[in-house]
Amino acid sequence: MKFGTKAVHAGVEPDPSTGAIMTPIYQTSTYVQESPGKHKGYAYARGANPTRNALQKSIAALENGKHGLCFSSGMGATDAVIKLLSPGDEVITSNDLYGGSYRMFKRVYEKFGIIFHFLDLTDANNLIPYLNKNTKLLWLETPSNPLMRIIDIEACATIAKKNNVRVAVDNTFASPYLQNPLALGADIVMHSVTKYLSGHSDVIMGALVVDDDQLLHDLAFIANSCGAVPGPQDSFLVLRGIKTLHLRMERHCQNGKKIAEFLKSHPKVGQVYWPGFLDHPNYSIARKQMRDFGGMLSFTLKNDSPAKATQLMESVHLFSLAESLGGVESLINHPASMTHASIPKEERIKNGLSDSLIRLSIGIEDGEDLIDDLTNALNKV
Ligand SMILES: *Cc1c(COP(=O)(O)O)cnc(C)c1O
Repeated sequence: MKFGTKAVHAGVEPDPSTGAIMTPIYQTSTYVQESPGKHKGYAYARGANPTRNALQKSIAALENGKHGLCFSSGMGATDAVIKLLSPGDEVITSNDLYGGSYRMFKRVYEKFGIIFHFLDLTDANNLIPYLNKNTKLLWLETPSNPLMRIIDIEACATIAKKNNVRVAVDNTFASPYLQNPLALGADIVMHSVTKYLSGHSDVIMGALVVDDDQLLHDLAFIANSCGAVPGPQDSFLVLRGIKTLHLRMERHCQNGKKIAEFLKSHPKVGQVYWPGFLDHPNYSIARKQMRDFGGMLSFTLKNDSPAKATQLMESVHLFSLAESLGGVESLINHPASMTHASIPKEERIKNGLSDSLIRLSIGIEDGEDLIDDLTNALNKV
């Protein structure tokens, strides 16, 4: 089945009790049992809920994976993966990471004795010196946030697999429409469902997709034991959002390309970070592992002035100044003070994330209106 058909149909069946074509919101905390322990697979809603189950099947299908597991947020999903580890275990990850993931790794889990190595993984060979018998997990994020670097998932996974290291990929920026990490050798795909999958900036949710039955079992055990599960209303909203994922992504990509090219040719703009440029350092890998280049991009102004960047962010009208991404509406963000404020300044600058960097999440509005908005704002700085 092709992607668009799966987006509309996967996981969703007419409701058995009424034939309702849309999966109902099963707003219940518990389920009545016929006799003790005898039930239809549902005992208590922390463990399972039919609306959530339909969504889990849908997300798994979009990633061409066997099992999906939803969480109350993207961080809840990431947290479950880290809880598979034990004190003394080591994790290799990239140095251009979602700020919240960096914060969880450094400030929550280091004190439990888990060791994290933050590396430039745009060259897969960089991870080799860090592999040892304690290395248990390779955590990748590509395209990276906010610098749009691309990591070769297959090359990294090949090295990891030879050393029995599990591979997880945060696939939030690409969405399953653009990239399917399981097919490239990953064991776990993580999504902040909050972003493209939901698509309407009205839900916080996370998901994991895996093929391995035992791995699903272990993660579901953590989900049920620790309790970071989403509610049925949110599951319903995401099921609805996914039905248009392919259409939204097409427009996100079209608009992303238009705006990346517009910014690149604008005299006041310095650097534009977008993986679809032929001169992007990881262009060929992006071409190889992604279906298109997405709607996320970052840029700096010439002379790299933080004051002018602030002025620009205050001058746009259609773009809203807000954290998050992947919704139908375009957003503008200042990573240094917003999404990535939790990364220490020296660490940020060292990794190339300057104080004047501006990140855009390009929505599905008419691209020309978005360009007009940016043109007007650039004229004011
Ligand atoms: C937003 C985001 C997360 C965290 O997800 P939440 O749903 O906000 O908890 C993780 N990774 C990336 C790349 C994100 O953009």
